[in-house]
Amino acid sequence: MPAAYQIIDHTYDAVVVGAGGSGLRATMGIAEAGLKTACITKVFPTRSHTVAAQGGIAASLGNNSPDHWSWHMYDTVKGSDWLGDQDAIEYMVREAPAAVYELEHAGVPFSRNDDGTIYQRPFGGHMQNMGEGPPVQRTCAAADRTGHAMLHALYQQSLKYDADFYVEYFALDLIMENGACRGVIALNMETGQIHRFRAHAVVLATGGGGRVYQSATSAHTCTGDGNGMALRAGLPLQDMEFVQFHPTGIYGAGVLITEGARGEGGYLTNSEGERFMERYAPSAKDLASRDVVSRSMAAEMREGRGVGKDKDHIFLHLDHIDPKVLAERLPGITETGKIFAGVDLTRQPLPVTPTVHYNMGGIPTNYHGEVVQLKNGDPDAIVPGLFAVGEAACVSVHGANRLGSNSLIDLVVFGRATGLRLKETLKPNTPHNPLPKGSEEMALGRLDHFRNATGGSPTARIRAEMQRTMQRHAAVFRDSELLSEGVTKIDAIYKSMEDVGIEDRSLIWNTDLVETLELDNLISQAVVTMRGAENRKESRGAHMHEDYPERDDANWMKHTIATFDGWGGKGGSCAIDYRPVHDYTLTDDAEYIKPKKRVY
Ligand SMILES: Cc1cc2nc3c(=O)[nH]c(=O)nc-3n(C[C@H](O)[C@H](O)[C@H](O)COP(=O)(O)OP(=O)(O)OC[C@H]3O[C@@H](n4cnc5c(N)ncnc54)[C@H](O)[C@@H]3O)c2cc1C
Repeated sequence: MPAAYQIIDHTYDAVVVGAGGSGLRATMGIAEAGLKTACITKVFPTRSHTVAAQGGIAASLGNNSPDHWSWHMYDTVKGSDWLGDQDAIEYMVREAPAAVYELEHAGVPFSRNDDGTIYQRPFGGHMQNMGEGPPVQRTCAAADRTGHAMLHALYQQSLKYDADFYVEYFALDLIMENGACRGVIALNMETGQIHRFRAHAVVLATGGGGRVYQSATSAHTCTGDGNGMALRAGLPLQDMEFVQFHPTGIYGAGVLITEGARGEGGYLTNSEGERFMERYAPSAKDLASRDVVSRSMAAEMREGRGVGKDKDHIFLHLDHIDPKVLAERLPGITETGKIFAGVDLTRQPLPVTPTVHYNMGGIPTNYHGEVVQLKNGDPDAIVPGLFAVGEAACVSVHGANRLGSNSLIDLVVFGRATGLRLKETLKPNTPHNPLPKGSEEMALGRLDHFRNATGGSPTARIRAEMQRTMQRHAAVFRDSELLSEGVTKIDAIYKSMEDVGIEDRSLIWNTDLVETLELDNLISQAVVTMRGAENRKESRGAHMHEDYPERDDANWMKHTIATFDGWGGKGGSCAIDYRPVHDYTLTDDAEYIKPKKRVY
């Protein structure tokens, strides 16, 4: 182990890694329970990707149309293509209204109806009457800047509690002992000091890893670091083959146009000016769930009806909507359209294409946020001391496909649940055992390895190859040939990490180093995603396998859990196993929603 690093030790009851919507909500709850809490974040809290969320947050308030939590539950189960765990889904939809009112009281400036209630808009896949329709208005919105409003309110509130923030600290690795999590090691990016946090509980709230792909709506910081740390700790990731493509990323730029645009009446057309969604989803049309809309768009382009000279995108029309409505309800995307597509969307259609948006998969947890794994035949064995929330986690409420506006609600509901669980299970000031000897070795060995890497492959080149490969081989449509080629390619790209080289050897704001650590996190997820996709011989939700075009409940209604052995190009084997889907509800108030064919 390199001796030159200065290590600063801390002891907390709980440490949260991540200060997006889920991390901040967890931090608040844990601190409120009187536990000594730290929150570590690589970006300033209000720069977390949650800030970019546009369209809104789902809860069955029933302000703009009749609604009921059981309808929300039905839609979420159907949206998940029956891969979601129904106990966790019941928990989320029932807690959702209280969670939104809590945000309202915390100061989120929601848009308002004339009677003063929170404005709610329609979103894809959200229906009335147990899926029968018509569409329900369930998505609570602060114009098209809901995440921005939410994150700022949560950050302001979190300062009220006695939690310590470690801002611009990059978490490197978990400290594990005998299968339990004992803490986490982080690099202070400003000073180069190493901080070792000993804690009874670590909460991973590190967000998604959209940057595994070339074109993604997520920020460049969305590198799934927590998922990488979990894999290196020998823990599995669940259902990583389910990657959501959002139908409306701006063509070329990848920047998101919220589904709220279609919620407010926007529609898609092909090169013939046809509103083609009427053919694919006769009832929900442009408001079918995202996997369905993205697939339909990709099919149109494949069949030569894409727009533009390469027929490689689709038009989104908002030009028929009253400009006053656009200015009031979609001001952000009006601006985005101008900047990123050069389009005045009050007059012209926007060029859009399906773009990577969300990871349904992640670190498996139960509805308390506790990380679970398959151990000695128990599929729900808890990993002591470790929690995961937000996009990093797979509870699983989103199953094979997430409904729009169900992520923001997942963040606050399960962020809060984690705080409640810790309040129940951990007494403030519980004494700590000493950390195992050499607890920093793994993290520092890896840090030092990359800091001194002199290979011939720059980080940016390996990253670009990984992103291109994922985009080409694990996209909206997949088949056996594409996927098996993809596995060979991604394995080789992983191996090429052995030859990575960086230029900056300093420890002060070494972005070269941090990007390489992030790439190492991304690439293990890329392998697991590709392997999981290659392995799953059916089509379900976002995973469309053209050689197996039907959902196969008899053989595949189960969660994939994948482990990955190695980092930095060494090792690289991926083992796949399964956990059963929870086919039961949390309480007798809810009825188990039986699988049926998924049509919109
Ligand atoms: C453009 C866009 C629009 C969206 N719109 C909506 C919407 O309208 N409705 C909806 O429901 N969902 C929406 N989503 C999805 C939703 O916003 C995200 O899934 C959600 O915000 C993720 O929140 P999070 O708390 O899990 O993580 P994030 O908000 O991504 O935050 C991750 C946190 O982890 C920290 N972190 C990560 N790695 C490390 C590390 N190594 N060390 C220290 N800290 C680390 C970061 O600093 C950050 O604070 C949208 C997503 C995008 C990309």
